[in-house]
Amino acid sequence: MSKEHSPLLENELNEKCGVFGMLSHHTNSSPYTMLGLLSLQHRGQEAAGITSSNGDKLSSHRGKGLVLQVFNEQFDFRNLSGEISIGHTRYGTSGGKEHLQPVAGATEKFALAHNGNIPDTTALEVFLDEKNIPNPDLNDSEMMHASVEYFLKKGAPLEEAIAKASPLFTGAWSLVMMDKEKLVAARDSKGIRPLSIGKGHDGYVFSSETCAFGPLNITHLRDVEPGEMVIVDQNGMRSVELSKGEQRLDVFEFVYFARPDSTLLGKAVDTVRRNMGKRLAQEMANWEKPIEADIVMGVPDSGLSAAYGFRDESGIPHEEGFVKNRYMGRTFINPEENAEGAKNNGRSIISRKENTRSQNVKMKLSALPSVVAGKRVIVIDDSIVRGNTYRTVGEILRDAGAREVHMVVSSPPVYYPDFYGIDTPKQSELFANQHASLKEMCLALSADSLHYLSYEGMIEATGLPEGKLSTSAFSGVYPADIGNRKDEVRKMGARA
Ligand code: AMP
Repeated sequence: MSKEHSPLLENELNEKCGVFGMLSHHTNSSPYTMLGLLSLQHRGQEAAGITSSNGDKLSSHRGKGLVLQVFNEQFDFRNLSGEISIGHTRYGTSGGKEHLQPVAGATEKFALAHNGNIPDTTALEVFLDEKNIPNPDLNDSEMMHASVEYFLKKGAPLEEAIAKASPLFTGAWSLVMMDKEKLVAARDSKGIRPLSIGKGHDGYVFSSETCAFGPLNITHLRDVEPGEMVIVDQNGMRSVELSKGEQRLDVFEFVYFARPDSTLLGKAVDTVRRNMGKRLAQEMANWEKPIEADIVMGVPDSGLSAAYGFRDESGIPHEEGFVKNRYMGRTFINPEENAEGAKNNGRSIISRKENTRSQNVKMKLSALPSVVAGKRVIVIDDSIVRGNTYRTVGEILRDAGAREVHMVVSSPPVYYPDFYGIDTPKQSELFANQHASLKEMCLALSADSLHYLSYEGMIEATGLPEGKLSTSAFSGVYPADIGNRKDEVRKMGARA
């Protein structure tokens, strides 16, 4: 995603992007790609774009906003016609320049869409400097594009150019790429971010998540393997090993990112989340003094599956006590912050951010007094990162009359920053690092109790061996090289 961070956005949580690609022998692939991106909208809401090839040349359309804002009713898909398309939904992390994707460069001969992050771009920068390719304004995805383009300009065929450039890519990268005749997908040697292959519409499809396949009548064939490059053209599909792969999918995909109707490494995400909730209920039932509660409520949407699992295991009824404003995107502008910004010649008021975040949560969620008043409530969310959501959820529940608020989290404490595309805040800003004990965390959230799922419980809930997962946010173990970013990590917590 990005090399630089704007001062305003650097403290925001940045979601991973979504990528989609399609080669169809008998239909215009761009409307399908738009629909694919719509199914991946949860992976990025800041910008969207599609590049298509009509066999002669590439054309692109990109813009800021949701997929249906960028490809609205006025958009004419005849401007993006062709059998091959790739698309991207993006959560922006960089200020100033927009860095929209797919990246196609000035020549528009080769396009690339990237999900993930190259934590340390030194190798790419050195390579581009040596080749006299200016790069100070380029983000990681643009540098990857420029390095492949270099080999293309030297006359290498597409897959050879990608194979030659790929040793410069470190960290997390699930890529879909194309030239005018070929569609290519590739994944880093640890397969940190997901990428699946589907078949349908007389061709092949690549998607960050399998949830995009069903609505388009596409059959999930398999996943792109870690270290694998898959090429699709008029001759069908073939595979090349770029590097020796060892699967380490980011467990945060199971915890939060992926849509519940996707499957990851053969496991249904909803089932894994329900297992997490069941396991939490088992762990809590084993305490000397188990919590007594009247209702369980999942924070919509990401806490719901775990809440259903918790309900099934504990027998405590689940209630839909939250109302979520589904029209509240991420673009909400805090009126107070804006007014202050105006007073200060437009400079943003960083100190007001906490209020803004709390206001954002309040704009998104309200609680029904008819459901919660007088009740002892167990509220379940998937994770605590900076603590803003739970702090505000507690307030909302108490304002609606809840008698007790027990906060339950379906993942362990997040102690470590992310360098693989989630872009969580600096380590010192992570909630779990700001408090010395669970008791202090509980006090900070004004909760009656606070419970995290154990690390072992999270792994077991996935049904996968720990060795197939990247657990860096929880364990501080970074399976893909993070280069000079190592200096930013301080060992913390029990698992360090
Ligand atoms: P926080 O309010 O900072 O504690 O963030 C935790 C909330 O954000 C939870 O409700 C999660 O569902 C959600 N979340 C977790 N990780 C991310 C992320 N990387 N980007 C956006 N939201 C996230």
